[in-house]
Amino acid sequence: MKIYNTLTRQVEPFVPYDEKEVKMYTCGPTVYNYAHIGNLRTYIFEDIFEKTLNYLGYHVKRAMNITDVGHLTSDADTGEDKMLKGAKREKKSVLDIAKFYTEAFQNDTAKLNIKWPEIVSPATQNIDEYIKIITKLMEEGYAYESGGNIYFDISKVKDYYKLTNHKMDENLIGAREGVEEDQRKHNQADFVLWFTKSKFDSQELKWDSPWGVGYPGWHIECSGISMKYLGEHLDIHCGGVDNIFPHHTNEIAQSEAYLGHKWCNYWVHGEYLNDKTGKMSKSKGEFLTLSVLIDKGYNPLSYRFMCLNASYRKTLVFSYEALENAENAYKKLKSKVGSLQKEGSLNQEDYQNYDEKFKEYIADDLNMPNVITLLYDLLKSEVNDFTKYTLVKSWDQVLSLDLCDEPKKERTLSEETIQELIQKRAEAKEKKDYQTSDEIRAYLEQNGVRLKDTREQTIYEWID
Ligand code: AMP
Ligand code: ZN
Repeated sequence: MKIYNTLTRQVEPFVPYDEKEVKMYTCGPTVYNYAHIGNLRTYIFEDIFEKTLNYLGYHVKRAMNITDVGHLTSDADTGEDKMLKGAKREKKSVLDIAKFYTEAFQNDTAKLNIKWPEIVSPATQNIDEYIKIITKLMEEGYAYESGGNIYFDISKVKDYYKLTNHKMDENLIGAREGVEEDQRKHNQADFVLWFTKSKFDSQELKWDSPWGVGYPGWHIECSGISMKYLGEHLDIHCGGVDNIFPHHTNEIAQSEAYLGHKWCNYWVHGEYLNDKTGKMSKSKGEFLTLSVLIDKGYNPLSYRFMCLNASYRKTLVFSYEALENAENAYKKLKSKVGSLQKEGSLNQEDYQNYDEKFKEYIADDLNMPNVITLLYDLLKSEVNDFTKYTLVKSWDQVLSLDLCDEPKKERTLSEETIQELIQKRAEAKEKKDYQTSDEIRAYLEQNGVRLKDTREQTIYEWID
């Protein structure tokens, strides 16, 4: 397959480090609030990427972090910890906030048919890993202590700006959001690996470290989690374009300084979803969540469909008009597939020809707009119904639009059974047995029941 690599600024053939298993890391959410539909666009693109690799025959091991500590309101290490801000806003503990919004995020991804990565790890559960990395960086002179914090010294690495193509003398600082000069840093682009001192001292979560009681910076968590679960050679690292600088730039600097060799070969970034006023952001106050769309009566998969109609490398502007159009087109598409004969004989030649085209498009830098056009072409073609249906079913492993699902489900479960399963799921979650809780949710969904976790309890609704 070919993919656009931010590092080399070109579309390149994808060659994994180890053919047997592709190692993929995707930056996860900061769980101080709901994900907005812009964030979800990035997770949809990453989901498509993973499923494309699967379709093309690769086995993918994918890890994602959950940021529950250390991400300050400015990516440049200034401002307040976002988690603490969320906790204050809701008068809850940081851990409660993290738990609540992690579950909310998991619910959103399930509604959008986004596969939950094989490894999902909260930043707070890998502190030893960060301490191990920072210790070595200190020993080897890549990091220094200043005013109580541990900083990474960007002047110690060659080509710190290789991902952004910015020259060292360019003043990137000025381009960052809400930045103030930090007198403790040797170079203004140096970044915090470990905080013991910052402007606010009400940090709830703190750990012992060789440099004093404190907490990790945001960037070190992704390097730490990635190396811990995926090893020293990463094939693919994804995120939204806003992650390129400083987050991914810093991840490269610290990981390669630590490892002493190249860390990740392919850096792949999804473009923004904007609203009419510009980029969506959680900190702006008012932001669009998936629940807002559902409350207005939209099917979450219409939003997925809308995203698939644009290249992941192009900005997409959200409007209700665009969503309305996507929903109408999606409904028509589904009903067209629903009207196909689901039995018959498979025309091998047609199947091969269309499937080859499908593979060609997905392998071409995830060209989803071409895939959608191909889907319409297939449905209009002379190919027999059963072959059409079999192709759509197969392609839906990547598209995940439930194109072949029966539209209406019988209400087969009793109120009593549903409540019993909700209770069992709550118990499983309490024990952190997320596999069981996921299975219960999936079982209920298959039987037409959708769960909704509110702050106080789990409620359910019938999917019509
Ligand atoms: P956060 O929870 O803020 O750490 O962001 C989670 C993911 O969403 C990151 O990969 C970001 O790059 C991405 N992201 C943030 N804003 C947008 C947006 N407006 N459109 C698309 N992706 C975004
Ligand atoms: Zn990250």
